[in-house]
Amino acid sequence: MYVVTCVVVFAVAYLLNIVTITVGYHRGLAHQAVTLSPRVRRALVVAGNWITGLDPKAWVVMHRLHHEHSDTALDPHSPLNVGIWGIASEQLRSYERVLVGLARDDPHFTRYAKDLEFPINALNGRGLWWAPYAIHALVGVVGAVVVGPLLGFAYFAGMMSHPVQGGLVNAFGHAVGGRNFDTGDNARNNHLVAWLVLGEGFQNNHHHAPASARFSCRMLEVDLGYGFCLVLEALGALRIHRAALLPRLGALRGAGSSATLRRRADARAL
Ligand SMILES: [Zn+2]
Ligand SMILES: [Zn+2]
Repeated sequence: MYVVTCVVVFAVAYLLNIVTITVGYHRGLAHQAVTLSPRVRRALVVAGNWITGLDPKAWVVMHRLHHEHSDTALDPHSPLNVGIWGIASEQLRSYERVLVGLARDDPHFTRYAKDLEFPINALNGRGLWWAPYAIHALVGVVGAVVVGPLLGFAYFAGMMSHPVQGGLVNAFGHAVGGRNFDTGDNARNNHLVAWLVLGEGFQNNHHHAPASARFSCRMLEVDLGYGFCLVLEALGALRIHRAALLPRLGALRGAGSSATLRRRADARAL
């Protein structure tokens, strides 16, 4: 029973972290593939950094830089530049560079945040980036003392799993897997990463149609993140832009709508 409890705690913490990032930061703030309700958007801006340890504004700006310069020398995290195993440190360095640039109002970075009316989180402006990690570690320690060490570890590992999630997507999603579209970069569809990181492994599909809330387009491609979008939409937390959804691959070819979709996606990419 103890081990089952630990697995459940890890799963809930892991999902809370990744849903905040993939639905809130990525599909919501970065690409506007879903429109968050004003209340949810406010909550995300205020609490997102505390939940994930990542500043929402800095995350979005770094991600938009990634789309603009995908797999070129200017990409903030491409395995073509630093190799698969270099991604972990590269994405951290790039995130810090973006955060410092935004704090200094550097136009090289602020030009990617014109639609983001909120500042970087006050924590990061004061050098307190470590506070969310410390609080989650404290909760983990309390859990370890009260219930058991495995439970404390499960909580902390799940809540602070974003470096692993991001590393898997940024490394293998641009290095290992098939391609449905000629995206002009090295974006790939990696099914294992997609299962682990709620659809984010389908980087090739996503770079083809960044404004699509659904990252899958073939029958065997499973995007659990889109499933969460559907549930959250039913709860009134967001609205999916269905006109921008990536059509199923067969329908895409049959309708000859690829150029239209790409124009629509490009318009909404930034
Ligand atoms: Zn990518
Ligand atoms: Zn994206």
